[in-house]
Amino acid sequence: MQQTLFSIKATYIALLLYGAVGFIMGTLHLFSPTGHVIDQVVPLSCGIGITLLLAYFHKDPSNRQITTIKCLYLANIIAFVIPVWYFVLGATWYGWPLIEEFPPISAIILIAMSVLIFMIPKSWTRYVILMWISICAPIVLFLITHPLQLETPRGRDLMVLFGPGGALLFIVLSYQRELHDRFDRIEGSLKYSRKQADTDSLTNISNRRGVLYWLSQYSTDTAHFTGLIIDIDHFKSINDTYGHEVGDDILKQISVILAGSLSEQDCLARWGGDEFVILLPHATAARAKEVADNCLTHIRKNTFPTVGQLTRSIGVAHNIKSNDIDTIIRQADACLYIAKRQGRDQMVSRSSEE
Ligand code: GH3
Ligand code: MG
Repeated sequence: MQQTLFSIKATYIALLLYGAVGFIMGTLHLFSPTGHVIDQVVPLSCGIGITLLLAYFHKDPSNRQITTIKCLYLANIIAFVIPVWYFVLGATWYGWPLIEEFPPISAIILIAMSVLIFMIPKSWTRYVILMWISICAPIVLFLITHPLQLETPRGRDLMVLFGPGGALLFIVLSYQRELHDRFDRIEGSLKYSRKQADTDSLTNISNRRGVLYWLSQYSTDTAHFTGLIIDIDHFKSINDTYGHEVGDDILKQISVILAGSLSEQDCLARWGGDEFVILLPHATAARAKEVADNCLTHIRKNTFPTVGQLTRSIGVAHNIKSNDIDTIIRQADACLYIAKRQGRDQMVSRSSEE
C-alpha cells in the first residue's frame, strides 16, 4: 500500500497554501498584467483546481489522501513546468529577455518541490526529480548560451537557484528516504506487536482482544452477526486423567478443526480455558446451521491421540444486530448453558427476531 509521511492536517495546510498562492499570483497579474496571458491563466486555474481538490479531499480525508497528493503533484507540473517552457521557448524563438519576463517564482518553485518530496509516496520521488530536471534544464541551458543575461543579478540568481540550488532537494530527498525507512520499521513492529497482543499463544488463533479488534471493523448500523460458543465437555477430567499437556494438545487440535469450517471473513477465537468463540458476519440461517453442524460433527468424529473421542456443547445465537461483544456472548452463552444442562454433546440455537 502506498503511504505518505504527510499527516491529514498537513495535507489540508498544503492544499490551502498552494491554492491561496495560485489565487494571489493570478489576481496580482490580473490587476497588473505582464503581457503574458499565461501569468493569469495558470495560477488562477491551479487555484480553482486545488480548491476543488480540497473539497474532494474533505469528503473522506483518510481514504483520499494519496489520490489528493498525486493530483496536487499534477497541479504543480501545470503551475511550474508549463510556464518555464513557455518563457524559455519564447526567449529562444522570439528573443524575450528571460531575466525580465520570467515571473519571480523561483523560490516558490524550490520550496514547493521540497514539500512535494515529503508529501508524495516514496515510489513517486523519482517523478519529483524528473519534474525538477524539466524545470531546471531549460533555464540553465538558456542562461549558459546567453551570457549577457547570465551576467545580470537576476541571471546569476536564476542560475544559482536552478543550478546548484537544486542540490538542496537532494538533502531533503535523503531525509525523506531516512524518514520513510524509520516509518516502515515502526509500522512493521507495531503490526507485529498488535498481532502478538491479539493472538492466543497456545492455539495461535485470536484471543479476546483479537475479537474486539475484529468487531471494530463493523459499524453499529450494519452489524449483523451469528455467534457460536463451543465448550469441550468434561475437559477438566481430561486434564486430571491424562495431564495438562495432553489437554493443551487437544485445545490446539480443536482450533485447527474449527478453523476448517470457516471462511476468511469469519472470526475464530479462544475465549478462555476450553471455550472457543466463532463470529459469522451477515450469515444466513442456513450458513449458521452449516457451520454449527460442521463444528459438532468434525469434533465428534475426530480421534484425538491418547484420549480418543471427545464431545463438545455448542450455543448458537443467530441474527444479532449488535457489534457489542457482551451482547453476542450473553445470548450464545445462554444457549450453551441449556445445551450443558440438557446433557451435553449437543447444540442449542436461538435466533433473534428478524
Ligand atoms: P463442562 O462439560 O461443564 O464444560 O465441564 P468442564 O470440565 O469442561 O468444565 P469447565 O469448562 O469449567 O473446565 C474448563 C477446564 O479447562 C478447567 C481447566 O483445568 C482447563 N483449562 C483452562 N485453560 C487451560 C489450558 O490452557 N490448558 C489446559 N490443558 N487446560 C486448561
Ligand atoms: Mg468445558
